[in-house]
Amino acid sequence: MLEVKNLKKRFGDFEAVKGISFTVPKGEVLGFLGPNGAGKSTTMRMITGFLPPTSGTAIVCGHDISLEPVEAKKNIGYLPESAPSYRAMAVGEYLGFIAGMRGFYGAEAKERVEAAIEKAKLSPVARKTIDTLSKGYRQRVCFAQAIIHDPAVLIMDEPTDGLDTNQKYVVRQMIKEMAAEKSIIISTHILEEVDAVCTRAIVIADGEIKADGTPDKLRAMDPSGKLDVVFRNLTSKEAKL
Ligand code: ADP
Ligand code: MG
Repeated sequence: MLEVKNLKKRFGDFEAVKGISFTVPKGEVLGFLGPNGAGKSTTMRMITGFLPPTSGTAIVCGHDISLEPVEAKKNIGYLPESAPSYRAMAVGEYLGFIAGMRGFYGAEAKERVEAAIEKAKLSPVARKTIDTLSKGYRQRVCFAQAIIHDPAVLIMDEPTDGLDTNQKYVVRQMIKEMAAEKSIIISTHILEEVDAVCTRAIVIADGEIKADGTPDKLRAMDPSGKLDVVFRNLTSKEAKL
């Protein structure tokens, strides 16, 4: 369970996130929807403890990310924007390293790595060097890294960005397969993602929440019933002129 409480972030004079609050119960896949520069990544970095908020906080399974970062982070899996990893390592070797960082050793580490490889559908490339993989596989390696400790909360920053249609499909399947057990947030600027995987969506622009509801509720906000029209009305400065 994840509770985000009035998160704000200021970079110098610029307020990138202006007070964002929401709760994600178990079983929910929350789409974090917004144009480039809306504040999606900044909010996710604050929730995962990578960036200290100017004010506000996030409570992860009862642990405040600012006050109890170690306990909170044990319950978080994070797939950062552009899916970084150690590209010179082989897939299995990298995941073994991550398992060690998460405090697993010996037989348990091996089991964790095997389970993550299975869930992220990486078996065919487990021995390959990450650098030699396609973008879709590299994304899945980062996905495997995010779930190795079976976290209750999974935060994914644009997990399908730059993937082709088939690769997107696989990543969305992986998200759906574990949705029942977890609280999941995925950020995206791709509207089709909402219908494909999300049970709820938050539209964010200029560091603020502009709408929050089920995909059907969001669609009902415009007579056209089209998500792209609703999205444009909520997020485009030109549309308001
Ligand atoms: P999104 O992920 O929705 O595209 P970001 O959260 O990355 O948006 O960025 C939100 C705004 O904050 C942007 O205007 C961006 O330029 C700014 N920003 C993000 N990180 C920094 C930083 N470290 N220093 C200054 N400005 C930043
Ligand atoms: Mg971003």
